[in-house]
Amino acid sequence: MAPKTKKKTAAKKRTASAKRKAPKPGRKAKAGKSGRAAGTNPKRVAAILAKLDEGYPEATCELKHANPFQLLISTILSAQCTDVRVNQVAETLYRKYPDAKAFAYATPNELEMEIRPTGFFRNKTKSVMGASKAILEKFGGEVPRTMEEILTLPGVARKTGNVVLGTAYEITSGIVVDTHVLRLSNRLDLTRNEEPKKVEQDLMQVIPKEKWIQFSHQIIWHGRRVCHARKPKCIECNLESLCYAKDKTV
Ligand code: SF4
Repeated sequence: MAPKTKKKTAAKKRTASAKRKAPKPGRKAKAGKSGRAAGTNPKRVAAILAKLDEGYPEATCELKHANPFQLLISTILSAQCTDVRVNQVAETLYRKYPDAKAFAYATPNELEMEIRPTGFFRNKTKSVMGASKAILEKFGGEVPRTMEEILTLPGVARKTGNVVLGTAYEITSGIVVDTHVLRLSNRLDLTRNEEPKKVEQDLMQVIPKEKWIQFSHQIIWHGRRVCHARKPKCIECNLESLCYAKDKTV
């Protein structure tokens, strides 16, 4: 009779362990001892990355630009605005203001009217003109290539720095944390933080560095196309089997 009891105990242990590994849908697993979100198990992260590669092999930045400077300006304009709207404004904007010098010496009122459709146009005008002047005066007319330097430009924070360095220069400096990355990283339980800087730190610890640039693009694409803030299209989502977000719709 003794062997039977041992078998039962072993089976119970296996079941308990399986339950720990697979949180019930709608319920986040508890954070591990490291304080990291429980969804950051390397195998799970690798599976998420594989699904993103499968779904979005060609994901890239959707802001149209002809050079790093235009990408910087478009990224500043994209705060609280869609890329589609920024691209519409950018089409005429860069014809009228072709380089940093043109923006630096623009007439503020005129520039404000040009970028008004992107919202927050007064602040954005100050940032665009300030960044252009700094690029001319401190960096010889070229967008700098390090995070440290790019963060000295007015109106530029880590998100913009990561977009420009990653997309224009292919320099891996961090992970872009915009509204989509913030939302999806939480839904996918890759972080338990809401503050962009902390979320970026969390992601940088669990995503392999060589994937940082592509991961940013892919998550943004997934957020725009499938995992919407309201009513995510979970039924169409190729990450569904790995996701236990509490607002899943399937
Ligand atoms: S299953 Fe739903 S909530 Fe989870 S990642 Fe996919 S779309 Fe987003």
